[in-house]
Amino acid sequence: MVEQTNWNEALHQAALSDIGLRRASNQDAYSVVLAANDEDFRSRGHMFIVADGMGGHAAGELASKLACTGLAHTYRKLVDRSPDEAIRQAFSETNAGIHQRGQANIDFLGMGTTSCVLLLLPEGAVTAHVGDSRIYRLRGDLLEQLTFDHSVVWEMRAAGHLPVGELANAFPKNQITRSLGPHPEVQVDLEGPFPLEPGDTFLLCSDGLTGQVKDEELGVILGVLRPEEAVRTLVDLANLRGGPDNITVVVVRVRRSLAAPSGQTARGNVSAAGAGLAAVPPVLWVVMGVCLLASAGMALTGQILPALLSALGGLVAGGVGLWQALTPKAQNKVDAISGPLGHGPHARRRCAADAEAVARLADIARQLRDAADHQQWQVDWNRFGTLVDSATAAGAKHEYAEAVRSYALAISFMMSEIRSQRPKQALGEASTADL
Ligand code: CA
Repeated sequence: MVEQTNWNEALHQAALSDIGLRRASNQDAYSVVLAANDEDFRSRGHMFIVADGMGGHAAGELASKLACTGLAHTYRKLVDRSPDEAIRQAFSETNAGIHQRGQANIDFLGMGTTSCVLLLLPEGAVTAHVGDSRIYRLRGDLLEQLTFDHSVVWEMRAAGHLPVGELANAFPKNQITRSLGPHPEVQVDLEGPFPLEPGDTFLLCSDGLTGQVKDEELGVILGVLRPEEAVRTLVDLANLRGGPDNITVVVVRVRRSLAAPSGQTARGNVSAAGAGLAAVPPVLWVVMGVCLLASAGMALTGQILPALLSALGGLVAGGVGLWQALTPKAQNKVDAISGPLGHGPHARRRCAADAEAVARLADIARQLRDAADHQQWQVDWNRFGTLVDSATAAGAKHEYAEAVRSYALAISFMMSEIRSQRPKQALGEASTADL
């Protein structure tokens, strides 16, 4: 019997999309499509998407929504294709669909969107993306960017034309070189499969996050907070730094092994579970028994050569039967992922929750408190004070992860207090502090 995996126990994920503080609309979109059962997981896996639309008025919003729905629908429809083939085809068809919608209506002409997709499969994690929305993996304190930004800065650096450093800052960071929609065809990059381990934490995000929050801060926050706390804190940090763009964050933590239950193997292999063993024709066992008995009889009557031949026949029949019994029966196959894909990870950084990380968050909490005090906002100072006190106490005991967590919760709490009373204006004022 196939064991049903409880996906809620295997994964822990949270997602948040925020308009930011400077934009009139949210042109980001995201989608989370979890496998319904074990069979679905082994065929299609779990799917997570972030898309960042661009174009005037409603065009960007439409493009990112079309990307999320189109990619999920087409990928899951192509059940007879391997995951890498299916996701490539999904990007191709979705791009063509967005392009056609853009051509058909002057308001949507030239609309485009980035798209990054994370697939969690029995073979591991596979990413597929176009544009500069990113997918990271945190393992321990190592944060790795699995995707390559399709941006002018990254492409030039890869071509050896752009030194890292000040000159790199002269180029607009948000100028991308590929997106879904503007052209009839698009090239998608796939990476992986990256083997999964319990504790692995994935982050998908739009550049509204990564433009404001550095990799080392992402890693520290992801490392110590639960997914729902992490998405909130990351959005808050981006808004505290001005929130110039829409911010979308999806965090997925692998809590326990996603591999197929014991007795089963990944796609493309054979299975030894359930009815997986081949049946052995009973005649083989009968032949073996008859031959061995005849052999014994002939040996007793002195017919040595026939006895040996008969024994040999019995052993051959037994051997064939045994071989058939132990050979697993091949299942209906969906092709396996064809080899390693891409060259990722494309960036790495150690992100320990250390004294420096604690000091940085303590500074943000202090400035936020000063701003709230100065603006005379109505804030539950007791709750804020309790969180800051516990952060300070943990820091004093060198329990840095706990200190980071308490400061992050204090910052998120203060932001929610401000948001609840004077939504955008207050957040804008808070973000004018140098945070
Ligand atoms: Ca953006």
